[in-house]
Amino acid sequence: MILNKEQLAFKKKLREFAEKQILPHAAEIDRTTEFPWNNIKALAKEGLFGVSQPKENGGLGLDNVCYSIAIEEVSRVCASTGVTLAAHSSLPCGLLSLAGTADQKKKYLIPMVKGEKLGGFGLTEPGSGSDAAAMSTHAEKKNGNWVITGTKMFTTNGSTADFMLISAVTSPEKKTHGISAFIIEKDTPGFTVSQKLEKMGWRGSDTCELVFENCTIPEENLLGKEGDGFKYFLNALDSGRIGVGAMAIGLAQGALDECLKWLLKEKREPIEGADEELKEALLYADLWNGKRIDQQAFQFILADMETEITVARNMIYTAAALKDQGVPFKKEAAIGKLFATEMGMRVCTKAIDLLAPLSGTEEIPLSRFFRDIKACEIGEGTSQVQRIVIARELLKENE
Ligand SMILES: Cc1cc2nc3c(=O)[nH]c(=O)nc-3n(C[C@H](O)[C@H](O)[C@H](O)COP(=O)(O)OP(=O)(O)OC[C@H]3O[C@@H](n4cnc5c(N)ncnc54)[C@H](O)[C@@H]3O)c2cc1C
Repeated sequence: MILNKEQLAFKKKLREFAEKQILPHAAEIDRTTEFPWNNIKALAKEGLFGVSQPKENGGLGLDNVCYSIAIEEVSRVCASTGVTLAAHSSLPCGLLSLAGTADQKKKYLIPMVKGEKLGGFGLTEPGSGSDAAAMSTHAEKKNGNWVITGTKMFTTNGSTADFMLISAVTSPEKKTHGISAFIIEKDTPGFTVSQKLEKMGWRGSDTCELVFENCTIPEENLLGKEGDGFKYFLNALDSGRIGVGAMAIGLAQGALDECLKWLLKEKREPIEGADEELKEALLYADLWNGKRIDQQAFQFILADMETEITVARNMIYTAAALKDQGVPFKKEAAIGKLFATEMGMRVCTKAIDLLAPLSGTEEIPLSRFFRDIKACEIGEGTSQVQRIVIARELLKENE
């Protein structure tokens, strides 16, 4: 897909912004696993919490292709920051845009779009992930309130979010039509963050287990219609898949850019600037005298990486453009997410092979990218779940 002038200008601006403001903190965030507050503030200042939200909601009023570009460019330098932004934008903001009342939008959506408040989305539970309909968290109406009990697992922004959008069963006999969506504020009694999870990738992002124990919220914190929650969550996941696909493209692009940077640098300036340990590694790998980059076998690997990234980017932009046109994009989002995340895994693996043994050194963030890309294959539905969605849509189209 060819970007228009506005999208190209946005991409250029985001590349500069991410390299200047987000990149300097990325390695430290990964090392310490600290939540990237500095980066979050920088994103908020730039208006990036509401890229595709209309201006009347406090957003930038751009399209979903620009939203994908923002996630890609941020994730190209720091996936922990990228997932924090993506989880906030496409899930809680997406749900409130879809089904929120005017009052809910004013109270919750607008502060989130402006970057004044952070949001999270709790669907997964210890006993239900891919089979989200098997959730056991339930909500009962009591004295004009909703009382919620249950546990949510792997919730991004779990301890840092001001507002959490969660799913709960309200009428078990109605199965998926008996699931509703609720807005929970951070300090509501009965809502606790029971653990912050340590992870292999997206290490600076805030992933938590949340417990709701007779957590009582006012009736007006039901989102949309009672029983329509599952439909809303599936809808938000379609958009979420565009976000995670864009993250994977950013990581793959970051990995390719590192390969080009180092291979060309070592060809240009054989050994200057490298410390002793690096010199030894470079010599060992025969990189510093430029031999590898001159070989067609290595150039073909770079060509394959570039080809795969270009294909994935076109898929994700297409899904985003369909969303912008207001036409169905479920299948295209699942195809894009599946291909982009599996492509990202292949590209990051090739990058590690290309720069080995430098790949594991502190100067090159490839081990971080490699750990981060794996999480992209899991969040917003695993690759197997994407295949289930694609096959279902394909069969529906051909029945
Ligand atoms: C870092 C991170 C952040 C996350 N953030 C959030 C969040 O903010 N909110 C949220 O609600 N969730 C979040 N999740 C949860 C994520 O969406 C789930 O982990 C994912 O949907 C898989 O669910 P599960 O972990 O229970 O695995 P399971 O569903 O138990 O799956 C285990 C394995 O079985 C496979 N499998 C399952 N069912 C089938 C089937 N029918 N056919 C073939 N294979 C199958 C899966 O593909 C997977 O490989 C996050 C997860 C991670 C890792």
